[in-house]
Amino acid sequence: MATHHTRMLIIGSGPAGLTAAIYGARAMMAPIVVQGLQPGGQLTITTDVENYPGFRDAVQGPWLMQEMQAQAEHVGTRMIWDTIVSVDIDGGAPFRAVGDSGDEYIGETLVIATGAQAKWLGAPGEQELGGKGVSACATCDGFFYRGKRVAVIGGGNTAVEEALYLTNHSDNVTLIHRRDSLRAEQILQQRLHASDKINVLWNKEVVRFAGDAAAGGLTHLVLRDTVTGEDSSLEVDGAFVAIGHAPATELFKGQLPMDDNGYLLVEPGTPKTAVPGVFACGDVADHVYRQAVTAAGTGCMAALDAERHLAAQAIGAEPPVAAAAY
Ligand code: NDP
Repeated sequence: MATHHTRMLIIGSGPAGLTAAIYGARAMMAPIVVQGLQPGGQLTITTDVENYPGFRDAVQGPWLMQEMQAQAEHVGTRMIWDTIVSVDIDGGAPFRAVGDSGDEYIGETLVIATGAQAKWLGAPGEQELGGKGVSACATCDGFFYRGKRVAVIGGGNTAVEEALYLTNHSDNVTLIHRRDSLRAEQILQQRLHASDKINVLWNKEVVRFAGDAAAGGLTHLVLRDTVTGEDSSLEVDGAFVAIGHAPATELFKGQLPMDDNGYLLVEPGTPKTAVPGVFACGDVADHVYRQAVTAAGTGCMAALDAERHLAAQAIGAEPPVAAAAY
């Protein structure tokens, strides 16, 4: 068990955390990034990234995160493979966090970049058949369903991207959506409708994942029509739940203000939480944009504000309003 001290403790290693680290390291704050359960964050479970600026051709999500981490380390960040299990924010700075390893982390400032995780439907059978036909990540598990019948549940960008991705492995992909129109971007909808491997079932919700976890796994989905209430059945070998994400904020309950969905509240237009010296960036505080590039942007803002916060404390002043020095 060790105790690690830093001027900037960053929890989370997606684009927000790593960008905060790059800026923090260059500001000589010797940041520590505690990586969490999914080092690199959500981009490590995606494939093609076509909208991160600077790359004309698609890049791979895991590659992009490796590069961000390498850059953060190159400028002086310490990456630690641990998962924070408790944080003490209430007492004010320095902030103390404890890792799963038993190690203790003390930060003069704290940057929360814990991101968001896939949501589940909560329907019977979903949990029992998890990993046995039911998954929340087509890019991770799609390969296992080569030539098999698969379904994706949801109507947003993630669901459509997952359905399109699955056509690499299967000619029999069904997208199941609870309404009669998708919320995914038009370009993705066009690709979806152009594919003869994808069939869309409108106005349907999954009320049960059926199968035997001990023998063969998922066999079919019990669907209910959201308009007529009629039940039907769809035989599938794999089902991918893609209905959005929930912020990873369990650690901060009762210590930082959150909205009704658990997203951390920040001062509008800034990454500042209600506690001076604690900043939130990326998906954990953003239920609207949730893009790698916006996460990176707010990570940068968190590091700049953390630096300004410490500088102001050093001279016993409030942080200046304008960031002229940057
Ligand atoms: P979204 O919140 O955009 O979409 C969730 C979908 O799941 C909706 O269609 C919603 O239905 C459906 N849904 C939610 N709850 C249930 C439920 N209980 N039962 C059935 N269906 C349900 O999440 P995404 O993960 O798709 O996207 C999140 C954000 O990330 C978005 O801002 C998106 O643009 C962005 N993103 C961008 C990508 C890119 O640019 N390449 C790739 C992936 C995501 P309904 O429509 O009826 O509400």
